[in-house]
Amino acid sequence: MPPEITNTFTYGRVCTVPTVPGEPALEIKELTFTYPGADGTALDGVSLMVMPGEKVALVGPNGAGKSTLIKLIAGLSRPPSGSIVVYGNMAGACHHRVAYVPQRGDVDWRFPVTAREVVMMGRYAHLGWLRWPSHVDHEAVERALATMNVADLADKQIGELSGGQQQRVMLARALAQEADLLLLDEPLNNLDVPTQELIFGVLDDQAAQGRTLIVSTHDLGVLPLHFTRAVFLDGHVVVDGPVNEVLTARTLLRAYGVRLHPHEGIWDDDMAD
Ligand code: ADP
Ligand code: MG
Repeated sequence: MPPEITNTFTYGRVCTVPTVPGEPALEIKELTFTYPGADGTALDGVSLMVMPGEKVALVGPNGAGKSTLIKLIAGLSRPPSGSIVVYGNMAGACHHRVAYVPQRGDVDWRFPVTAREVVMMGRYAHLGWLRWPSHVDHEAVERALATMNVADLADKQIGELSGGQQQRVMLARALAQEADLLLLDEPLNNLDVPTQELIFGVLDDQAAQGRTLIVSTHDLGVLPLHFTRAVFLDGHVVVDGPVNEVLTARTLLRAYGVRLHPHEGIWDDDMAD
């Protein structure tokens, strides 16, 4: 029998440390990241600790570094300085425990796969090498398709679906993975209200099961209902705290300054006081 291969590898790191109760889901220390050839840093001295079960909204204007941070947590590139530890392991080592839903613009929707095949990709982190999907994997895929209300679209090419349907398929892929940490990059952009509500219902349910959510958004209106904590990012952490404490005029002004535009969220002239 071949040796059991438990998960995927990134930069030769392997997921070895089991979760210790009370340990953070995520611990980032002094993370600084600069894209090759870029003038300035995308992230500068970001430190963040997230406990299991937290619902964290990552908020910030365009270019604040939300996507960069989420990709680094997902282990998609190596941080040049600082550390990112996910459930006790270096970021990228525990692929099966971290589900990542990229921002729409980061996905090539022309890729020739069906919706069901996309969702099955969520199971690959569990499969390791040389193993075909079992009935457990197929069941997880069908369950996720049904939860996201896309079962009837399962045999369609992903490129044929509407934006909202594609987003639901990507969410289904994350659910099928049965990961402990869900990283969602602007999952609500350009979605109609029923689709947003479906997604929030599923996310609330995931959190109730003890899963940890980190969701980037620039829709401040969704914070009070669906998140316990908000981290305002602008290259560095500007504000970090419980939603009901940080969602104040003063904080918003500090976080956004003049960059907050009325259509991006709650804003009125009193906030400048
Ligand atoms: P956000 O998701 O908050 O809009 P990003 O993480 O996409 O922010 O971008 C943070 C900064 O990094 C921006 O200044 C952006 O222009 C830059 N950036 C993002 N992706 C790349 C890339 N692939 N190459 C060079 N610079 C990038
Ligand atoms: Mg982004």
